[in-house]
Amino acid sequence: MTMGNDNLVVVAGAGGFIGGNLISTLRTQGHKRIRGVDIKPLQEWYQHFDDVENLSLDLNLREDCEIASKDAYEVYNLAANMGGMGFIERNKALCMLSVLINTHMLQAALKYGVKRFFYSSSACVYNGDKQKAFEAPSLKEADAYPALAEDGYGWEKLFSERMCRHFHEDFGLYTRVARFHNVYGPWGTWYGGREKAPAAICRKVIEAKVSGKHEIDIWGSGNQTRSFMFIEDCIKGINLIMNSEVLEPINLGSSEAVTINQLVDIVEEIAGIKLRRTYDLSAPKGVNGRNSDNTLIQKYLNWEPNTTLRIGLEKTYRWIYDQYMARERGEAGVIRESAAAR
Ligand code: NAD
Repeated sequence: MTMGNDNLVVVAGAGGFIGGNLISTLRTQGHKRIRGVDIKPLQEWYQHFDDVENLSLDLNLREDCEIASKDAYEVYNLAANMGGMGFIERNKALCMLSVLINTHMLQAALKYGVKRFFYSSSACVYNGDKQKAFEAPSLKEADAYPALAEDGYGWEKLFSERMCRHFHEDFGLYTRVARFHNVYGPWGTWYGGREKAPAAICRKVIEAKVSGKHEIDIWGSGNQTRSFMFIEDCIKGINLIMNSEVLEPINLGSSEAVTINQLVDIVEEIAGIKLRRTYDLSAPKGVNGRNSDNTLIQKYLNWEPNTTLRIGLEKTYRWIYDQYMARERGEAGVIRESAAAR
């Protein structure tokens, strides 16, 4: 199925990290009709573009989902209550309430005859018992069952994945689901409590560099293993999966696993600095080990996210550094506004 560039594409969660980057890419691909929707007021969106229809709506509400989906050909649902471990461990009910967003978006998609629907799930759906070892077990798609997802956030994702599946099976709606593994990169959350490890570590290293206080606190023992996917790979993967015949939820993540200590090593190298590390063992730290098994995505798409962590972190560090310095100078809005003008 090919899509003309004049068909309306809707991105829910457009004011967020991945939604903003997706819209940026869709524009460069020549899409002429894009509608971005987010609950935040426009001035708080990480990126927004003047040639896009930007709507502030609460997608918990069915009627707002209908406004968002009317006349849409394609819908990407990236809207959710979401954050790093510190956020999802302390906001389980809020995370589970995202079920309203996806459920109402699916119903609205059906009502308006949307041709294709994408849902962003997460590696947090995987069974916790399979993530106890620090040696980063690679999680294959079948490892989500028997279900023992991350409490709150992960259960909502697992439920919403199945909702997509049954809207496809029972109502014939074209749905595609990707399980993202830790995404990082420019235009993401880097302070405020919802940021994830790569952005938090870049910010802490920058703070240490700027303040001259050469110390860093790390959540947990630093031995937890994870993989991190650069945003450009995430956007490419979303595009490939939306256009594929992959009917089941599929991993979209990097398979380059590192410990949190190794992540700090890389950021220190980029910054040209060495810090004294302290470990906060009482901080939220998530599962011990997690990596993406990419057998299925290789089989179906003959591709997997392949930007090295070093390259992706260099770009991310530079972007956060610029944001940090602009903020220090009291110019927080400058960089965001320049995106609107691009
Ligand atoms: P984000 O927080 O930057 O973006 C999500 C956006 O959804 C926010 O701008 C938020 O305001 C919006 N939103 C929340 N509630 C809404 C509502 N009721 N109505 C309208 N908009 C609402 O997060 P992100 O990193 O861009 O994540 C996008 C999607 O990918 C989410 O579904 C998330 O769960 C999933 N995901 C992300 C990662 C990651 O590492 N970033 C990993 C796994 C899954």
